[in-house]
Amino acid sequence: MRIDVLGVGFDNVTMEEAIDRGMELLHSQGCHYVVTPNPEIVEVCRENPAACRAVNGADLVLPDGVGVIKGARMLGTPLKEKTPGIEFAAGLMERMAREGMSLYLLGAKPGVAKMAGEKLAQAHPGLRIAGTHDGYFHEDAPVVEEIRQSGADAVFVCLGAPKQELWMEKNGPATGARLLCGLGGSLDIFSGTTERAPKFWSDHGLEWLYRLCREPRRIGRMMKLPLFLVHVKQEKRRR
Ligand code: UDP
Repeated sequence: MRIDVLGVGFDNVTMEEAIDRGMELLHSQGCHYVVTPNPEIVEVCRENPAACRAVNGADLVLPDGVGVIKGARMLGTPLKEKTPGIEFAAGLMERMAREGMSLYLLGAKPGVAKMAGEKLAQAHPGLRIAGTHDGYFHEDAPVVEEIRQSGADAVFVCLGAPKQELWMEKNGPATGARLLCGLGGSLDIFSGTTERAPKFWSDHGLEWLYRLCREPRRIGRMMKLPLFLVHVKQEKRRR
């Protein structure tokens, strides 16, 4: 059963369990997708029913950061641990590499996915990069066809939220892949274009502050974080 945080149902799993589940999905018939919402996305879902449906329709919903963990605890329904998308992706690639599986990288500015692909292939011997495409295209069909032709087992869809969740819900089955993962800015990090917050910051739940210092233009988006906590408090009182 999922744990509800302001209308988004989260799977209550450890990172290890999340990766096991990801592999199970990769080995099962049909097309599946994974989402990794943070408080900002939960807030988007409160306002956007289509985004909410796409997020809750995923086969695996993982809490990306400490904000969701805090919210769930405040509501009296704690989640086991945070399962950041980027760490989930790294664990999944390690397991995929052992089985010689293939991965398609979709998203980010031109050149970034290709660079990420080169680095990931080096870091995970055995993992096959089936193809890459930037995230600034106007028509879905040619991209979907390219993925289908590549025969990829999995696709990392990094178009930002909620675009990537809506994209996976709509186009997932036509790609022929068995698993799609919505991973926001992960390709920027895998390619080395952007740095992830050092461990100290993330261990103290301050990854958001690190990102804000590096990219002050995120301030508008980050105002959703205090709003999320206000909504959690309201929900707690209501319950
Ligand atoms: N992006 C994209 N196509 C778009 C809009 C965004 O490929 O139409 C990419 C953008 O270049 C970045 C990622 O999506 O690589 C979103 O990153 P962001 O840091 O906003 O996501 P977060 O990790 O915060 O969810």
